This record gives sequence, C-alpha cells and structure tokens, in this order.
Amino acid sequence: MRIDILTVLPKLLESPFGDSILKRAREKGLVEIGIHNIRDYATGKHKSVDDYAFGGGAGMVMMVEPLAAAIEDLKSKRKYDEVIYMSPDGEMLDQKMANQYSLKKNLLILCGHYKGVDERIRQHFITKEISIGNYVLSGGELAAAVFCDAVIRLLPGVLNDETSALSDSFQDDLLAPPVYTRPAVFRGMKVPDILLSGNTPEVEQWRHDEAVKRTKEKRPGLMKKDE
Ligand code: SAH
Repeated sequence: MRIDILTVLPKLLESPFGDSILKRAREKGLVEIGIHNIRDYATGKHKSVDDYAFGGGAGMVMMVEPLAAAIEDLKSKRKYDEVIYMSPDGEMLDQKMANQYSLKKNLLILCGHYKGVDERIRQHFITKEISIGNYVLSGGELAAAVFCDAVIRLLPGVLNDETSALSDSFQDDLLAPPVYTRPAVFRGMKVPDILLSGNTPEVEQWRHDEAVKRTKEKRPGLMKKDE
C-alpha cells in the first residue's frame, strides 16, 4: 500500500510515521508514505497557500491553485483509489471503514488548515471526505495520522501476532475483553483463575463472555443482535 499526504505542516507528520508500529511497517516495505508540502506547489512572490474568504468573515481559506497543482502532479504519477479530504463534516471513521481502506493500493490524503479548503477542490478533486469525530481540530494532519494508523496496523505482517488485530475492539461488533499480565497477584488483587488454568477453550469462552458483558455495559449500541 502507498499513502501520499498533502500538508502545509510536513513536520507534524514526522513523528506519527517515524515511531513504533508505523515505522516498522515502513521499514519492512509493507507501506510507503509520501509526505508532500503544499507550499512547494505555490506560485507568486509570496508562495501563498491561503487567502481571505470571499464574502468576508474571520479565517483564511486554502487556495484552489496550489491544491489543484499538487493533486494533479501526484495523480500523474500513480492511480489513486481515493483522494481523501480530512474534514469534520466527512463520513465518521470507524473500524469497518479502516478494514475497507486497508485493502486499497494507493491513497491520497489532503490535510486542510485555517477555515478549510476552497470548495471547488472538494467538488472537483476529492472523492471521499473522512472525519475522525464531532469536534474541530486546527488541521487535518493529526486526523490523517489517526486514519493511517488505524488502516496500516491492519496490513498483513504489520503486527507481530497476525491474529492480534482481529481480537481488538469493534471487530465482531464487540469491545475487547479485559487483559492481564504478570504478576498474578498485585497488592492482593488477583488475576481471574481461569486465565491461569491453561485451558484454552475455557479461556476463549471466558473472553467472549467478558467481551459481551463489557459491550452491553459500555456500548450497547454496538451489538447488532443480543447474544
Ligand atoms: N471551518 C471548518 C473547520 C476547519 S478546521 C469547519 O467548521 O468545518 C481545519 C482543518 O482541520 C480542516 O480543513 C480539516 O482538514 C481538519 N479537521 C478538523 N477537524 C477534523 C475532524 N474532526 N476530522 C478530520 N479532519 C478535521
């Protein structure tokens, strides 16, 4: 998979892709990340990427020309499955969407700033708009990093234990069950006996029951059918 990201703040994206699981995924060649500075596509004396909003009002708007030039340049190099704009009014990201995007080959992601991007970009260049929640961030970079993390960890070979992503919350519409590690007793608080029993089928049954219980308690809306 390859993901290209268009941003005015490339530095903001260095750390999320330069550490831990995402770093390893890149090193193993499982995902390629291209971070592109929109300013490189700006023309004119000041290399501006934003301008005042027509009609007045507070806040700058990202200009259509540098964005169009950037998107067209990247599209001339490869075919993208989707050109995504991170936006608070987009489709709300969830696990099902992350699963679907993890099957794509090339994605292009545009990070907005200020009041957002000129509407003509959204109408004519963007194929999908994605939100990471009902709140407003100051830029699309952190949202893009969240989206990419959720997608990349699903790619085969990225997580060490291949089955690990499947037992996470939201797969199967269930939250994850409680987990414990050593020591078995901490200040008198004991790990459930069943987890120390070595009886794998019973442990699996316990985990499933706990996942159902937790989902009913915390997020009843997730469960499609009563188990
Ligand atoms: N004026 C816009 C918000 C602009 S915020 C509005 O009210 O809808 C600046 C940029 O941050 C946006 O262009 C978008 O790329 C990003 N952004 C902000 N909140 C986001 C969210 N919840 N999900 C995804 N991207 C978001």
